[in-house]
Amino acid sequence: MASLRSRIALALIKKQLPKIVAADPIAGLGDGLHVAIVGSGSPLPDEKRGNPCALVIAGSKVYVIDAGEGASETINRMGIDAGLIESLLLTHFHSDHIGGLGSVNLQRWVAEGSSTPMKVFGPPGVGKVVAGYNEAYELDRGYRVGHHDEEYVDPAIGAMVPEEFPVPGEGEANVVLEDDGLVVSAFEVDHSPVGPVVGFRFDYMGRSAVISADTVYCENLVKASKDTDLLIHDALSDELLLMVADAQKKAGHGKRGKILADVTDYHATAPRAADAAQEAGARALALTHVVPPLPLKGLEEIYLADAPKRFDGPLWIASDGDLYSLPASGGLKRSNLIGRRR
Ligand SMILES: [Zn+2]
Ligand SMILES: [Zn+2]
Repeated sequence: MASLRSRIALALIKKQLPKIVAADPIAGLGDGLHVAIVGSGSPLPDEKRGNPCALVIAGSKVYVIDAGEGASETINRMGIDAGLIESLLLTHFHSDHIGGLGSVNLQRWVAEGSSTPMKVFGPPGVGKVVAGYNEAYELDRGYRVGHHDEEYVDPAIGAMVPEEFPVPGEGEANVVLEDDGLVVSAFEVDHSPVGPVVGFRFDYMGRSAVISADTVYCENLVKASKDTDLLIHDALSDELLLMVADAQKKAGHGKRGKILADVTDYHATAPRAADAAQEAGARALALTHVVPPLPLKGLEEIYLADAPKRFDGPLWIASDGDLYSLPASGGLKRSNLIGRRR
């Protein structure tokens, strides 16, 4: 006989389950462009923040931008059905941006409503990454088709399809995807020595959002972000990161200390991201790819430094699960999808 506590837990979950599995946070969003942050962290282990990943929601379609490790789990915790994913766009091929690709594709493949293979858009190099994942998951696809039957798990749509686009020239933003009124443009950013790396601008129903990818302050980004409703920009704190690097070196971890110190030269700081937003005339700024982790609330001020003084609009440090809604009628609403289902 199960304990009283177990029987209560079972009764509670039985009652909640139909609501949980039927939840669709996208259904009530209304007309407009919506951007959700799945992972607001970096490759550094962080209790609060996952590896980089964002969602752009336009109409009933979901587009995934980068897929760091753990992306599909967090998308699920946000209550978003992987079957709604239309396609995926990669900014570049650093491991923290592609580590969750296989799992996002798997969840989409086995979800209700998927009828096409997932397209993965990206600059040159995307073919190699997609081919590698497809090969690594080939045996798994075979197991699942064999176990569940082709009627439920269609082998024809299990592998991803790469969609390579050329790197846009200096000062250019090129349309890489147009779908039901959504226009996605790519522009090159500066994450050197790593390249190619592109940021994306999304325009839909008169609203727009820009995702910077990994970059230092970049003129191309300022130009492509002109008058955008929302700029999502990477940002690190030199001061905090160098402090961590120094502590690692003093503890005898010279390799880790050197790698951490190197990271400071290819990401923007919060004040420089604020400069980009101000110069572009962006209406709001959310900082993501937060480095290093900020375990204490008080460290947020150090991370931001004088960024709030440099940008006139609202500025936030993004959290996993954040939803930034840009209704067609105007304005910006910010909420968080994690833990919302009850
Ligand atoms: Zn990177
Ligand atoms: Zn990164």
